[in-house]
Amino acid sequence: MEQSLAGRSALITGSTSGIGLGIARLLAAAGAKVMLNGFGKPEDIEAARQEVAALSGGVVPAYSAADLSDPAQVRAMCAEAEAALGSVDILVNNAGIQFTSPVDQFPEAKWDAIIAINLSSNFHAAKAVLPGMKARNWGRIINVASAHGLVGSPEKVAYVAAKHGVVGMTKVMALEVAQSGITCNAICPGFVRTPLAEAQVGPLAQKHGVSEEVALRDYLLAKQPSKRWVEVDEVAHMALYLCGPGSGAVNGAALSIDGGWVAA
Ligand code: NAD
Repeated sequence: MEQSLAGRSALITGSTSGIGLGIARLLAAAGAKVMLNGFGKPEDIEAARQEVAALSGGVVPAYSAADLSDPAQVRAMCAEAEAALGSVDILVNNAGIQFTSPVDQFPEAKWDAIIAINLSSNFHAAKAVLPGMKARNWGRIINVASAHGLVGSPEKVAYVAAKHGVVGMTKVMALEVAQSGITCNAICPGFVRTPLAEAQVGPLAQKHGVSEEVALRDYLLAKQPSKRWVEVDEVAHMALYLCGPGSGAVNGAALSIDGGWVAA
């Protein structure tokens, strides 16, 4: 692959798994120095680091165990990334969690956690790295929102509110940096084959008394016209494009990768 990101440094949150790890893989393979973040078993995190290292000429990525529900830990992670990588040129706000329940039964602690991790952490991280990006007059902030940043679904009140917030925040940040070498965009995937989404299939099958195959096609992917998972790599390539040459005029966009979901 073309080493278009040589000399760039990237902090990718929630990158021990799923979409974040996929983005870290592609950015590292393109030559960026990266810092991973997220939870998991120590051996799985080490395996993820070695996987990324193998794609970047043996350079083992930095890692932060910061819990992004805590703003102080978000700020500390950004400072650690600037120290370890020399700068944060690319920030990918990707960490996220899901919980489903009708509004009147939605646990308040789940609301608070989803808003903190899926929305507020994006603000705290961007605030921390923007001064460095402005000083260098180059930066990429990529917020992994969701189709649920553009449309709603029942039983996802906190997630949909947080992701709509991410899309709004993206627009404000984009406007503020519009005359600089920095861009801020949101990626809005539909259902992507990751642990977060796959975990929703079993409960749907149980709820409707159908097989997991039917639950996936008729319930989880009911709104996704392609009737197939979006793959992690299909999302990661959008992030790579946004960091690479030729993407400087893409700013403030909510970029759908959803098999046609929001076109319906
Ligand atoms: P995933 O569960 O595979 O990965 C989530 C990552 O976030 C993991 O690395 C996890 O350790 C990390 N994380 C969770 N809570 C954290 C916390 N408090 N502090 C730090 N890290 C934390 O999920 P995924 O599907 O890859 O989701 C990644 C992002 O993509 C999320 O923001 C999600 O909302 C979004 N998204 C996913 C889908 C989908 O269908 N999978 C669709 C649209 C948007």
